[in-house]
Amino acid sequence: MNYKKIFDEAIDQLHAEKRYRVFADLQRIVGRFPRAVWRSQGQEREITVWCSNDYLGMGQHPSVIGAMTQATSQMGSGAGGTRNISGTNHPLVELEQELADLHGKESALVFTSGFISNEASISTIGRLLPNCLILSDELNHASMIEGVRRSGADKKVFRHNDMEHLEALLAAAGRDRAKLIVFESVYSMDGDIAPIKRIADLAEKYNAMTYIDEVHAVGMYGVRGGGITEREGLADRIDVIEGTLAKAFGTLGGYISGKRAVIDAVRSYAPGFIFTTALPPAIASAATASIRHLKTSQEERTRHQAQAQRTKIALTEAGLPVMESETHIVPVLVGDPELCKQASDHLLEKHGIYIQPINYPTVPRGTERLRITPSPFHTDELIEGLTRALCETWRHLGISSGDGQVTGVQQTERIVPLIVPKSGG
Ligand SMILES: *Cc1c(COP(=O)(O)O)cnc(C)c1O
Repeated sequence: MNYKKIFDEAIDQLHAEKRYRVFADLQRIVGRFPRAVWRSQGQEREITVWCSNDYLGMGQHPSVIGAMTQATSQMGSGAGGTRNISGTNHPLVELEQELADLHGKESALVFTSGFISNEASISTIGRLLPNCLILSDELNHASMIEGVRRSGADKKVFRHNDMEHLEALLAAAGRDRAKLIVFESVYSMDGDIAPIKRIADLAEKYNAMTYIDEVHAVGMYGVRGGGITEREGLADRIDVIEGTLAKAFGTLGGYISGKRAVIDAVRSYAPGFIFTTALPPAIASAATASIRHLKTSQEERTRHQAQAQRTKIALTEAGLPVMESETHIVPVLVGDPELCKQASDHLLEKHGIYIQPINYPTVPRGTERLRITPSPFHTDELIEGLTRALCETWRHLGISSGDGQVTGVQQTERIVPLIVPKSGG
C-alpha cells in the first residue's frame, strides 16, 4: 500500500477539476478595515478585502477589542478545560444570558464554533426524538448536513424553499411521527431568505419541531440584531435558533437558543459540546460586547444595507451578471471554476482586490461565482473602484456577462435609496 500516492492522487483530482483551494496570506489592519496586508512570494502589498464575513467590521470595534484585552489581562488566555471540568467561566455564563435575551428564548448554549453548534445540536435532537424524521432544505450548510447524518435519523431533503414539497413530505410522515425541520434564514451563497412564517405554519399544522440557522442574519437584521426571525416577529414560533459569534459579531463561537429543556438536553448529551475545551473568557467577553453594542446601535445595520445596495446597483448598471439577492450578499456569476479562479487571481494581482472564488461543492457546478460582501466600511469610492476592476477583469478574461454587455462604470451622481428587503419567500 503506497499511502502517499493516495493523498497525492486525491489532491491531483482537485487540480484536475480546477477546484484546488489556495488561501491568500492576509493580515487585517485594525482601524482600516477592509484594508489588509497581502503577502505573496516574499512581497507585501496592501489590498482591499471584499469577501469578509466580518460583515459589520465588529472585529475591529473598540469596545469589542477592549472587552477582549481586558478579559485576557484579568483572566488569562485559555478557558482551562471543558465546561464539565473547569471551563465554565463567568463571561460564558453572561454570554449565554445575552444570547437567550437576544432571541427571546428561555436558554442558550455556546459552542466552540457555529459548525459544531449545528453538528452537535441537530445530531443530538434527532437522536433523542424517537423514530425522528428530519426534513432538510437542499441548500443547507455542510454543518447541518453533518448533524443530520450523525443523528442516525431518517432524512428527507426538500427542494430549496419549496413549501409544497415540504408539506407533501410532512403529510406523508403524518402528525404523530416526530419530525424536525432544519433550514436557514439567509442562504449565504445566493442571499435569498426562507419563507419562515410558512415553515412555522406547516410545522404547527403537522406538529413538527423547527430548527433555523440564522448565522448570516444575526447582528444584521432585526432592530436588536436578532436576525430575520426578529425582523419578522417570528422568533417565538421557531423552536431552536442557531447562530454564530464569528460573522457579524466579529469573534468566534456558535450557539443555540430555545426552550430550557431542549437546550439542557443538548448540553447533557452532545459529545461535540461535552468533550471539548470551552471558549476562552476573552472571546466570550468580546462576543458579549459586540452583541450588546448591536442590540442598540442601528448605525452599522443601516450603513451595511446601504452599501450593499449601492454595490448591487453599481455592478448591475455596469452590465455585470449580478445574481438576484434579497440581502447584503452580492453574488456575481462566472459559471466556470477555472475562470472563477482566474478572475479572483487577476483581481488580487492587478487591482489589489481580494474576492475568494466560490466553486463546487460550496455551490452547484456551473454556478461558480464571486461572492461579494460589502460592509459599512466599504466606501462609495471603494465601490466605484471595485466596479471598474470587475469590468476590466470580465473583459480581460472574456467572461460572459449574461444577457447584457459589460459597459463599464456609469457616471451617476444620484443618491441610492436605502432599500431594506421586506419579507422572504
Ligand atoms: C459559516 C456557517 C456556519 C458555521 O459557523 P462558524 O461559526 O463559522 O463555524 C454555519 N452555518 C452557516 C450557514 C454558515 O455559513
